[in-house]
Amino acid sequence: MARDYYEVLGVSRGASPAEIKQAYRRLAMKYHPDRNPGDPGAAERFKELGEAYEVLSNSSKRQAYDQFGHAGVRAGAGMGGGAGHVDPADIFGDIFGDIFGMGGGRRRTQRGEDLSYELEIELEQVARGGDIVIEVPRRVGCGVCRGTGAAPGSKPGVCPSCGGQGQVRIQQGFFTLQQTCPQCRGRGEVIGTPCPECRGNGFERKISRLRVRIPRGVDEGTLIRLSGQGDAGPRGAASGDLYVQIHIKPHPIFRRDGADLICELPVGYADVVLGAEVEIPTLEGQGTLRIPAGTQSGRHLRVRGKGLPTPHGGRGDLYCVVRVETPVNLTVEQKRLVEQLDASLRAGGVRHRPAENESWAGKVKSFFEQLAG
Ligand SMILES: [Zn+2]
Ligand SMILES: [Zn+2]
Repeated sequence: MARDYYEVLGVSRGASPAEIKQAYRRLAMKYHPDRNPGDPGAAERFKELGEAYEVLSNSSKRQAYDQFGHAGVRAGAGMGGGAGHVDPADIFGDIFGDIFGMGGGRRRTQRGEDLSYELEIELEQVARGGDIVIEVPRRVGCGVCRGTGAAPGSKPGVCPSCGGQGQVRIQQGFFTLQQTCPQCRGRGEVIGTPCPECRGNGFERKISRLRVRIPRGVDEGTLIRLSGQGDAGPRGAASGDLYVQIHIKPHPIFRRDGADLICELPVGYADVVLGAEVEIPTLEGQGTLRIPAGTQSGRHLRVRGKGLPTPHGGRGDLYCVVRVETPVNLTVEQKRLVEQLDASLRAGGVRHRPAENESWAGKVKSFFEQLAG
């Protein structure tokens, strides 16, 4: 179980970015593996600090963490334009510069950026699942130099300043400090003849056509991770990931409630009075529904198994909400018939009026009594 990130850094939940940075700096100095050789406890602490700092130093990740805890930043890692996975040692380097010489001589490989993509899908696609092809502008390895940044026929050479180490030593008073090599920026190699296509960057911008698998019954806001489909890293370094976030378009007929669907169903006056078989819309097309005689307006009639699929292979239900259509534009003859019917129903008393029969009249009566009292 991961510890609370605020606790790891020893700061309050309302700590400012500067306080977080300061706390991280102090603790990272203390637990840095170079200062605690052979102490696995310190290494573990250092790693934990890096994780906590990665999240709390990024405002969108911090917000996700505050809201959802560890789950929020695991699922949403890379959202909000962050640098994606960050090696604690890299953050350490960013904060301290390399002036402390704590890089340990390791070369930094910089992974490409994570990307995010908002994908709007129809409710019908939620029901079916399946693949959707999206077009994503992203950095990919340069096709001419194959991501090396060196012109075809030439090769990157060993950096003359650091001899391929990526680090140089500088003398400062009593100390010998190690610093990232300024010529090769820590890569250890330099490009003599840069690729003309990408000018030595090793990547180009391209529209990638990518296939996204939509799980049946997918929820609004779901993140789907396409590993390695983010931006390519510089000069052949690993690519970031692509996070596709699913948004479901509002449907003109159906409203969604989990795996269930809800729709309005306008029904004729005679159909609710006498009962009838009516046509209803379903995601698969037309269906039928039996309206029981005496159905009241607003009643939810369930149609089993006509909702959305669930992740476990089941299926939700469809609820049709009955809306009785009041007849309009009546002729003189029709009005006369309705009046005749009304008179007959009134003569029959409350047994024709179930709401009044059951509780409505009682509720109104006690409400009026309360008002008077
Ligand atoms: Zn190139
Ligand atoms: Zn160098």
